[in-house]
Amino acid sequence: VSGLTKTRENIVSGIDSIFHGFSKIDEEFYEELEEILIMGDLGVKATYAILDDLRQKVKEQHIKEPLACKQLLIDSIKEQMNVGETAYEFEEKTSVVLVIGVNGVGKTTTIGKLAGKLKGQGKKVVLAAADTFRAAAGEQLKEWAKRADADLIGGQEGADPAAIVYDAVAAAKARKADVLLCDTAGRLHNKKNLMEELKKINRVLEREYPEAFRETLVVLDGTTGQNALSQAKEFSEVADITGIILTKMDGTAKGGIAVAIQAELGIPVKYIGVGETIDDLQKFDSDDFVNALFT
Ligand code: GDP
Repeated sequence: VSGLTKTRENIVSGIDSIFHGFSKIDEEFYEELEEILIMGDLGVKATYAILDDLRQKVKEQHIKEPLACKQLLIDSIKEQMNVGETAYEFEEKTSVVLVIGVNGVGKTTTIGKLAGKLKGQGKKVVLAAADTFRAAAGEQLKEWAKRADADLIGGQEGADPAAIVYDAVAAAKARKADVLLCDTAGRLHNKKNLMEELKKINRVLEREYPEAFRETLVVLDGTTGQNALSQAKEFSEVADITGIILTKMDGTAKGGIAVAIQAELGIPVKYIGVGETIDDLQKFDSDDFVNALFT
């Protein structure tokens, strides 16, 4: 896992200092570890669960030396992050993917990267510019569509998002597209409107494209740490989220938020953004992520 240097430095330096700095596992050791995990943005809930689990195993296995419990800690974090097998159905089947996210998190860029990735797998991609609320979103998406060599439907500011999705479904069928990626709004200050809008879009999809596999991905800015977690919570109240994409993981020490999200919400982080170009999107794997943080 590349692109996680800062997160690694943040967590690893702290972890190393306690595994080497403490001669025995005592309360002080656990307190220090707790602080490191909280500072690493793993979230309060996940941190406590990890520590409880670790304490229990240390006791059961009569471990006395800090270094001897390092692997137990790694295993505990992995366990907390376990959300089962993460499916990437939209890479396998004819799919519609709704992408949600508030302004500035990197939603447009991420859709462009996803389109590029799918294109690279030999798939035909149609993009629906159904975030008609934000000025210039359509223009920006058009640039990415060009870069990813995907067809773009919609883009008129103020148009009805569900109507654009309707047109996009017709285009996707006519062009025998494999994946329809829909850029949809993310107005969390107006949850009711957002919920209604998503419902309307989903009704169109149920009616017009029942054969397509459906995903709803939420894009979150990884540099915002605990704010990203609360955004994820709020979105999960208005939509059936099937996955999360954490962006800007290249420039942040707050990557531990991936642990908090999976541990607290049970929603898989499916991809992470690690830069601004079309290739800077990586599949996320919890075990690889945790291993990368500790080795
Ligand atoms: P939107 O308002 O959510 O559609 O956000 P944009 O896609 O316009 O992205 C906002 C800014 O974040 C742009 O300058 C992007 O280049 C940048 N950005 C998006 N994803 C990443 C990422 O993974 N890493 C970095 N470093 N920058 C990113």
